[in-house]
Amino acid sequence: MDCPNCGVYNPEDRDHCWRCGTELPKQVERKRRDPQASARTWLYVAVGVMVLVTLLRMCGVSVPGMGGAPDATGCAPQLRSVAQLAAAFAGFC
Ligand SMILES: [Zn+2]
Repeated sequence: MDCPNCGVYNPEDRDHCWRCGTELPKQVERKRRDPQASARTWLYVAVGVMVLVTLLRMCGVSVPGMGGAPDATGCAPQLRSVAQLAAAFAGFC
């Protein structure tokens, strides 16, 4: 950010201008949550739920709301391998 007093550039993490010593205004925007990070978190949650549902289906548990009978062959191969890896890792089933 630029110093409001002398206009020189200052790194974002500085709270005083390196040149004139003027206190720099606080970066309020940086404190706000990053919307992209929030979207990524939801993506992780969605993937986690999908893996969990797949694990449950592999164990023969019918998941309410998913519809249809448990059918492991209907899942995407990469998702099944991830689920199998997670199952082996956690000692699930
Ligand atoms: Zn300055």
